[in-house]
Amino acid sequence: MQFQIECNTEKHSQVCLICRQTFQMYEARLIVCNDQGDGYGDICPKCAAKGGNWVQVKLQKLNYKLPA
Ligand SMILES: [Zn+2]
Repeated sequence: MQFQIECNTEKHSQVCLICRQTFQMYEARLIVCNDQGDGYGDICPKCAAKGGNWVQVKLQKLNYKLPA
């Protein structure tokens, strides 16, 4: 699992992969993706602020299915 930060030009709402809260997208978006670079979804700034390890543990607890 990897994290990508992308520049975002459109400002629109997204649902956080972890806390399921709708949040407003900012200029830098944090995306969770697999080793092939396929994105799973976005993470809100609150969750992102807790750090990559916390995010990873949280996703594992959610039993997030990673495509093979
Ligand atoms: Zn969140």
